[in-house]
Amino acid sequence: MFRIRFHGRGGQGMKTASRILGTAFFLEGFEVQDAPRYGAERRGAPIFAYVRADKAPIYERGVIDRPGLVIVADDTLMGVSAAGVMDGVDAKTVLLVIGGEDPEIWRDRLKTEARILTLKSFVDEETSERPYVGAVCAGAAARLVGVVSKARLEEALTQELEEHGKTVISKNLGRAREAYDTVADDEGIIIDVPNMPPAEPSPPDWVDLPLDPADVASPSIYATATSVQVRTGLWRTMRPVLEPDLCKKCVWVCGSLCPDGVISADADGYPEIDYDHCKGCMICVVQCPPHALTAVPEGQAQGEIEAAEGAPP
Ligand code: SF4
Ligand code: SF4
Repeated sequence: MFRIRFHGRGGQGMKTASRILGTAFFLEGFEVQDAPRYGAERRGAPIFAYVRADKAPIYERGVIDRPGLVIVADDTLMGVSAAGVMDGVDAKTVLLVIGGEDPEIWRDRLKTEARILTLKSFVDEETSERPYVGAVCAGAAARLVGVVSKARLEEALTQELEEHGKTVISKNLGRAREAYDTVADDEGIIIDVPNMPPAEPSPPDWVDLPLDPADVASPSIYATATSVQVRTGLWRTMRPVLEPDLCKKCVWVCGSLCPDGVISADADGYPEIDYDHCKGCMICVVQCPPHALTAVPEGQAQGEIEAAEGAPP
């Protein structure tokens, strides 16, 4: 059975990538499961989707805990433990990272025995954007499993994106074909494991439940303002940056439309963004009437801040 997990951020097309790959497997005569997993968060939050494919009926259920292939659409997720990218990854797993680093660097950082591949050419060097990255992931996965032809991949992608029209299909097809060709040297490296025995459940440790009152035994539940400790700003790939000359100081507009409530007015009436908790959904950028907010790639913004901080007074 092939077990594949796609990791990315909300809005990057991981659910669509899993559907495209699942449909391509199906067109090749496989039994298939594909499913996404995401929580209540929206654009920018870590999500994953997974595909199982086998020539025999599939009785496994639930999230894939020992994947044969893990594809990471956004390498900034590698440092987010909540994303679970490395869950179940072992020496038999192939890890494909869409990003600018070399495999050796990831191997050293992750201390993993997994085989690591990277795709650099699908990331725009200047903006860090990854156009049509869902199609890139589906195309690369189809070639790596070694049992999906390019024609079936194209057919599946066209079916899954049918409602988006010819232009969108054509652009996604281009990226999927490019990825399919790029990983040609590694065609078929994913291990098809027929019957993976379930992991041995470890016996539970004995847990003493204290009889203290709940506010003493579970102080974190009773504590106030704990959500502030979740730095959702780490999810951000694009940063809203204010151009003060264009700003009309109508903070009730951007401030009330920000879904995370992280825009407040400063002493001069200008919007002040809490970047520790701005997740980069870009709603404020789209909604600002005079276009005083601009979306800047996070890497570029960080570089400009560091350069400004390092500049002599
Ligand atoms: S909506 Fe735009 S113009 Fe109004 S305060 Fe916010 S950034 Fe400034
Ligand atoms: S400040 Fe803007 S980009 Fe950040 S979370 Fe709020 S609306 Fe989204």
